[in-house]
Amino acid sequence: MTSEEMVWDLSQLVEKVDPTHIQQQLQLMVEEASKIRDAYHGRIENLNAKGLLQFLELRDAHTLKFDGLRLYCGLMYSADSTDKVAKQLNDAFRTAMSRVGQALAFTFIELGRLLAKNPSLVSDPLLAEYKHHLEKILRRVPHMLSEPEERLTILKDKNGISSWQKLQSDWLSTRTFSIEVDGKVKTLPYGEIIGLYQNPDRDLRKRAYRTVHEVLGKDDIIWASAIRAVCEDHLQMCKLREYSSWMTQSFISNDMDQETIDSLLNSVKRNVELHQRYLRLKAKLMGVEKLANYDLNAPLPNAPERKYAWNQAQKEVVDAYVGFDSEMGGWVDEMFEKRHIDGKVRKGKTSGAFCSSWLAGKTAYVLQSFNGNVSDVYTQAHELGHAVHAYLGARAQKPSNFETGSCLAETGSVFGELLLTEQMLSRVKTKEEKQAILASVLDRFFVVVFQVSARAFLEQSIYDAMSRGEALDGEAVAKLWVANRDMLYGDSVDWLEEMKWAWVVTPHYFIANYRFYNYPYVYAQLFVYALYQIYKEQGESFVPKLKRLLAARGSKSPRELAAELGLDITEEAFWQKSMRQAEKFVNMLEETLT
Ligand SMILES: [Zn+2]
Repeated sequence: MTSEEMVWDLSQLVEKVDPTHIQQQLQLMVEEASKIRDAYHGRIENLNAKGLLQFLELRDAHTLKFDGLRLYCGLMYSADSTDKVAKQLNDAFRTAMSRVGQALAFTFIELGRLLAKNPSLVSDPLLAEYKHHLEKILRRVPHMLSEPEERLTILKDKNGISSWQKLQSDWLSTRTFSIEVDGKVKTLPYGEIIGLYQNPDRDLRKRAYRTVHEVLGKDDIIWASAIRAVCEDHLQMCKLREYSSWMTQSFISNDMDQETIDSLLNSVKRNVELHQRYLRLKAKLMGVEKLANYDLNAPLPNAPERKYAWNQAQKEVVDAYVGFDSEMGGWVDEMFEKRHIDGKVRKGKTSGAFCSSWLAGKTAYVLQSFNGNVSDVYTQAHELGHAVHAYLGARAQKPSNFETGSCLAETGSVFGELLLTEQMLSRVKTKEEKQAILASVLDRFFVVVFQVSARAFLEQSIYDAMSRGEALDGEAVAKLWVANRDMLYGDSVDWLEEMKWAWVVTPHYFIANYRFYNYPYVYAQLFVYALYQIYKEQGESFVPKLKRLLAARGSKSPRELAAELGLDITEEAFWQKSMRQAEKFVNMLEETLT
C-alpha cells in the first residue's frame, strides 16, 4: 500500500492553506456571526413568515460559508495533534467557535418565543422547508423556563451537578490497574487494561475484568452519591420543566415518542430466547460448557487471521456497496479517489474512527487507523455508510435539517456493515472464516441490543426505586443492575461477582441533563436490521427507498420517515423483523456446526 493514498487531502476544504489566511477567515466567521446578532437580537419575536425565512436562510448561509474552514481546522488536529500549526489552528478555531456560539445563543430562545406566540408559522407554506426544524423547537417551548432561570441553571450546573461526570471520567483516566501479563506484573491505565478484554487468552481476560471491577467497587460510595445526585436532579428538573415523564426530555431531543420506544423495548424482552440461544451457540464455538462474561466480546479461538492491504480493503468495501447500488458504490469509491479518507497510523492521531460531513462540498471526510485487520475493513464500511448518508443529505437538505437525531444517525453506517457482511459471507472459503464473521456480527448485535437495553431498564428501575422513596446505596444500585441484566441473559452466562459494578463505567449515567441515552443505540441497530430484512424481501425496488430515507436526514421525524416507506415503527411487528434478520444469522452459524 502506498502511504500517500492513505493520507487525506484537506486542502480541498479551504481556498488557501496558509495559516495566516485561515486565522483571518476564522476572524471573519466571528464578525459575520456578530453582524447576524446585531441585525436580529431582540427582533426575532416580531418576525413574520417572510422575515423568519430570511433569518433562517441567513443563518444557514453562514454555516455553509465557513463549513470547510471549520472542518479543516478540526480535522487537521485530529490527524496529528503533535503538529504545531495544527494545534495553533485548532485553538484559534475553538475560540472562534465558542464566540460564534455566544453570539448566536439568543436565536434559540427568541425562536421559541416567536413560535409560542405564533405557532401557525410552523405550517406556513413559505417556511415549508423548515417545517420540521420549527416543529422541533416548538416541542421544547412548553418546557422552557424564563430567561434568567435558564441562565442560572446553566451557571449552577457547570460547577454543580455537571461535576459528577468530570469526576467519573477523571477517576477512569487517572486510576491504574496492576495485572500480570506474560509473567510480568504491569501497571496499566484504564484505556489499556480494557484492551485485554478481547485478548485470546481466556484467563487473562478474566483477570482483566476482575481487576477493573474490583477496583471500581471499592469506591461504591462515590458512584452511589453520583448516580443519586444526577437522577434526583433530573426528577427535580422534570417537575420544574413540566415533563410528563422521566423520558420526555430524551424523546424531545431524539425526535422520538413513547409509543415507539415501548414497542421497541417490548420486542427486546420478547426475544430473550433468541439472545440466549446465541449465547449457548457461542459457548459451543468457544469450546466451553457455558459462556462467562469475559467471553461475550471475545473472538472465537479458531478465528483465522486475515490481513488486508489498503487497496484490497477499498475493493472489498466498494464492491459491497456496488452490490446494493452501483451509483452508491461510485460515491464510496470517490471517497478513496479524492483522498477523503485518512487511514495512516501515526502518533498524535485521534483514536477510533469518525466521519465528518462537509456540507458545502456535499461530501465527507473519514478518519480511521488502518492496520489491515477485518475489523478495520468493517470500520471503513461503517464510516463510508455515514459518508453516503452525508452525500445524499448535503444535496437534498438545508443545513438546519441536516442534523439527524441519534436514532437515525447510524442508518447508513450499519446498513453498510450488513452489506459488507453479506459479501464476505459469499466469498468465504472455510467454515472457520464463516464462523468468525457471523460471530463478530452477532456479538455486536446482541451486545448493542440486549446489554444496552439492560442499561435502559436499569435507569428506569432507579427512578422507580427513588419514587418509592428507597435509599439507594452502591449495593442497591448493583442489585438493580444485576436483576435487569439477568432478565435478558437468563442463566446462559456466568458473571464474575465483581461484574455487579459494570454500570459504573458507563459515562452516560453520570452526565447531567442527559437521561435515557441508551435506547437510541438499540433503536439504530434494530431499525437497520429491519430495513435490511425488507431489502432482502423487496430486492432492487428497495434501493430508491433507502436513498430517500437517507437524503431526508433530519427534515422529518423517524416515525414519519418510516411511514413514508409504509412501515409502522410503533408496532412490535416491525421490530420483530429485525429479530428475524438476526435469527437468520444465528441459524447460519448453527448450520456450520452440523
Ligand atoms: Zn457510526
